[in-house]
Amino acid sequence: MLLGGLLKFTLIDYPGRLAAVLFTQGCNFRCPFCHNPELVLPDLFHAPLGVEEVFVFLEKRRGQLQGIVVTGGEPTLHPDLPEFLARIKALGYLVKLDTNGSRPDVVRKLAEARLVDYWAMDIKSSLANYCKASGVEVDLEAIKTSIAVIKAAGVEYEFRTTALKGLVDDRDIVDIGSLLGSSQPYHVRRGNLQGKILDSGLADRPDYSVEEWARIQAVKI
Ligand code: SF4
Repeated sequence: MLLGGLLKFTLIDYPGRLAAVLFTQGCNFRCPFCHNPELVLPDLFHAPLGVEEVFVFLEKRRGQLQGIVVTGGEPTLHPDLPEFLARIKALGYLVKLDTNGSRPDVVRKLAEARLVDYWAMDIKSSLANYCKASGVEVDLEAIKTSIAVIKAAGVEYEFRTTALKGLVDDRDIVDIGSLLGSSQPYHVRRGNLQGKILDSGLADRPDYSVEEWARIQAVKI
């Protein structure tokens, strides 16, 4: 595993749990609004954390933290992810995994091995705009398969979209609703272009008008 960061405590990243967050290095997407370019662009990578040091921390926090969020970057790119998660779970932690859903075979393998207790998958946009919102060519069948595997995994999950004008509008949200099926745990959050983002050229992009954002929020999934 290449770990680019550790957040030692969070109340908001694992719903209902006290948790820490581990950030993996490397991603196969280039979402222009990404707030973690140092986990995505190899030229910006810092020296990775020592995995054994991380486990020393996790050992110490047993009984204090309930869950560990593994996020990225894109965690499923790391071939030793199953062993890594198994080791975390062996310490008694719940595991939440954040993924872009591009590696359904890995998602399935982790789900079948019961190595994830909570799935969070980003839905970048409607299928028609998926590649634009992801910044790369995306295998859309892979996205659909990951959605299906996560829904059938028998554990908690959520799907979520970061909405940015020009990449996601209310019609995209309607299409995402069709993709997910009704009554899914689904959240739309407004994209934020403050601070560092992967495509700095986006900083001047106009935001949604009040009416546009209201239309997005009014879509019922
Ligand atoms: S926001 Fe996009 S580019 Fe950034 S880590 Fe997530 S999937 Fe990768």
